[in-house]
Amino acid sequence: LRVISGLKKMRAFSEAERAEGKTIALVPTMGALHRGHLELVKAARELAHIVILTIFVNPTQFSAEEDLDEYPRDIEADCDYANSAGVDVVFTPSAKDMYPNGFQTEVNLTELSKKLCGKYRPGHFAGVATVVLKLFNITGPHSAVFGKKDFQQLLLLRRMAMDLNVGIDIVGVPTVRESDGLALSSRNTYLSDIERRAAAALPRALNEARRLYESGERSPSVIISAVEGALRTEPLADIEYVKVVDGETLEDLDVIDRGGKNTLLQAVISIGSARLIDHVLL
Ligand code: AMP
Repeated sequence: LRVISGLKKMRAFSEAERAEGKTIALVPTMGALHRGHLELVKAARELAHIVILTIFVNPTQFSAEEDLDEYPRDIEADCDYANSAGVDVVFTPSAKDMYPNGFQTEVNLTELSKKLCGKYRPGHFAGVATVVLKLFNITGPHSAVFGKKDFQQLLLLRRMAMDLNVGIDIVGVPTVRESDGLALSSRNTYLSDIERRAAAALPRALNEARRLYESGERSPSVIISAVEGALRTEPLADIEYVKVVDGETLEDLDVIDRGGKNTLLQAVISIGSARLIDHVLL
């Protein structure tokens, strides 16, 4: 495993590999690696000769009230984990190098970034799109792998890649879950034991929605009420939102009758200081 922090060194490495005809797959992360990230690495291994995993807790995607300082960081454990997962290079740039004095360019997706989580986290998706484009430019991959868990992020990055002719394949990997259904997340470490048990209410509520849909229910408001009702039975859970939207435009829907088009049911709750996000496609 090579660990590279310098931007120029990173670029030189990728250019040398590409000059030898090697393909590169990129796995961007914020570290605190878990089995979810591992699945991204596995997918990346299938795609290319070289796998670069980036670890960068990107300050521009956190708002002032969010958990930038508390976000879990353990670079040594992450490098061990990345090494055993088959990563070739861990790229860990510093915030100072990524955002030097005078930095002012932003990639903003005018529609997708306003929907769903965008309403509750202003600036978040511009921060994500901008840093991911920078990571693409520095590491020069042929493909890049992201989790479907962050559905809106994946959609937005696909759109950015298309809109800006980025020429990198954007690949999505299914959500990895704990045995009780909770999606793995670095933020799950914020949960106490009691909160951790309470968090299973989120996947349970979404399963409930899936059951309703499969039994023929097509009204978003009925399904949303059922999910909210299920979440309210868990006193530790605060609902941020539950929404049923078009799986591509993220526009609200009046009815789910879609001739094969994806419908996204997404729910966000907070438990203690952890913000938990999950979805189901109907
Ligand atoms: P993060 O380090 O949380 O920013 O996540 C880095 C990448 O891992 C993103 O593309 C996430 O969507 C993905 N990811 C996070 N958790 C999971 C999970 N449980 N299953 C699959 N992918 C995940």
